[in-house]
Amino acid sequence: MGKILWINLSNDTFEEQELPENLYREYFGGYGLSAKIFYEKMKPKTDPLSPEALLGFFPGLLTGSAASLTGRFMVTGKSPLTGTWGDANCGGYFGPEIKKCGYDGIILQGQASTPKYITIIDGKMTIEDASEVWGLDAVEAEEKLLEKYPQSRIASIGQAGENISLISGIITDKGRIAARSGLGAVMGSKKVKAIVLKGNQKMDVADNSLILEHAKEYNKSVKEAGAGAIFLWKTLGTPWQNDVNTKLGDTPIKNWGGNSDDHFPLEDVEPITGPEINKYKESEYGCFACPVRCGGIVKVPEADIKESHLPEYETCGAFGHMLLNNDLMSIFKLNDLCNRAGMDTISAGGTIAFAVECFENGIIGLEETEGLMLKWGNADAYIELLKNMINREGIGDILADGSRKASERIGKGSEKYAIHSLGQELAMHSPKYYDSMGTTYAFDPTPGRHTAAGLDMFLSGPLSKSNGYIEGFALPKRYKRKPEPRAEAFKMVVGLAQSLSSLGVCQFTLYFQKYPLMEFIKGVTGWDISVDELIKTGLRIQALRQAFTLREEIDLVDNEIPKRAVGINYKQEYERLCKKLSWNPSNGYPLKDTLKNLNLDFVIKDLY
Ligand code: SF4
Repeated sequence: MGKILWINLSNDTFEEQELPENLYREYFGGYGLSAKIFYEKMKPKTDPLSPEALLGFFPGLLTGSAASLTGRFMVTGKSPLTGTWGDANCGGYFGPEIKKCGYDGIILQGQASTPKYITIIDGKMTIEDASEVWGLDAVEAEEKLLEKYPQSRIASIGQAGENISLISGIITDKGRIAARSGLGAVMGSKKVKAIVLKGNQKMDVADNSLILEHAKEYNKSVKEAGAGAIFLWKTLGTPWQNDVNTKLGDTPIKNWGGNSDDHFPLEDVEPITGPEINKYKESEYGCFACPVRCGGIVKVPEADIKESHLPEYETCGAFGHMLLNNDLMSIFKLNDLCNRAGMDTISAGGTIAFAVECFENGIIGLEETEGLMLKWGNADAYIELLKNMINREGIGDILADGSRKASERIGKGSEKYAIHSLGQELAMHSPKYYDSMGTTYAFDPTPGRHTAAGLDMFLSGPLSKSNGYIEGFALPKRYKRKPEPRAEAFKMVVGLAQSLSSLGVCQFTLYFQKYPLMEFIKGVTGWDISVDELIKTGLRIQALRQAFTLREEIDLVDNEIPKRAVGINYKQEYERLCKKLSWNPSNGYPLKDTLKNLNLDFVIKDLY
């Protein structure tokens, strides 16, 4: 769209900024573009909850076009949870609506004095008093705002964001969440309840027939798939992994301290598998321009739920395996509570598991929990505890900022039960199964995340075959056996993953089939991009995110993940990766020449 929108909450102003085409070529869109703007405009050591902090909503470069599976947007800023660069990826329809309003990004700055919501409706922009929706959960707020602004798309915070919970996120489509990095708290600190968008602008793409030709073919094969990964995602959504990943040893069990033989065997998982969850599916749900439609809307009268989003695999792991809980109704309920309050299910589940282990080991007792028996598998207690966390009541106030902060407050040796990386709870994929996950959890500029840029998980699909995912992408020979080519493969995948996110492409495409990425990029932008440029662009984005985190004086290379989550020697793997990236392995700083080569010269003065 060629421009972004700045909204200042301190003085109620809107300002458009045009961006040159070369900026898009170098950073694409999404968090790549945002990282460039925020690195320059946000001073180092800015308190992420202060008026000076920026909060971005950036659709991917391809988002809003007909290119298959490109409907995603990213919320960006400095994470109040980890103090690092923060971003959170979300699907649905809000990202394309930003484009329909004429923008490639919306940035909030300043701080309102009283609760507000922002509207951009058919080109008219206002900042409104939010007293009628402040205090409501995100679904109630969205429903109320939709009555006033029909056919709009809305991003909002629930009570968790209003209460500045550091594990809160931002909700769209009545329960899809940009969950990680605690960015809901940033929106809450700005006292912005919601952004309401309705636009009618069209993306002026370079060659729509090229996009349509390839989208038609890709979508047709998705529709026809009767087996394999696409079929699993289509029919069961991500919960197809609930039992499969348990069997593999991928899903963490009992706050990462257990295993599926002794603590959560497959017969225990049975009640919470994909097919069991599917019995409650009322309809399918899919993001914009996606034929896979891996989401679902569930109705669960037994849990008093009329309409809610299908719990994802990550959610089932966090509220199921991690807590030795196979009460499906409670998982529906916990999921719905998080989606309404705007709380990250991974961090919420990890933090509850921390509290349970503290309780089981006598670090906290009934007095602290106000009568809640926080035993393994006690689902009713988890529901009450989560409500307390959302509302910051009792011990919930201590837990509302994640397990690291809670362990600092509780003390008494509780830190050994807090399973996090720089404050962010680890996702539901074990480095004991996916070797590279330890490196990613520990050292990615947004630590603790499985989607950041791991190697092994991404290689479980067509990417592992030469030209299997995109034409021209072939991993080095023997990367599975030898450290040197493995590090090179890791570097390539880091670059690819950063580019995909910034383009707005759903990462699940990595598990499906060959994807016409270059054709989609050309169709939208007119650029003939090579695979080398694609990877280099991703490496530029990764180096810039890294520089943002390092400039905050975060000592990434000395970060450690909890022993329970350690698989292979993740530090050694990172050292090898740093060398391949031409970063200094002793401090994680991209070398000067590397920065120059990536056109990141402006970073040098800050790091050197
Ligand atoms: S595969 Fe699922 S998450 Fe990805 S774009 Fe499609 S519906 Fe959204």
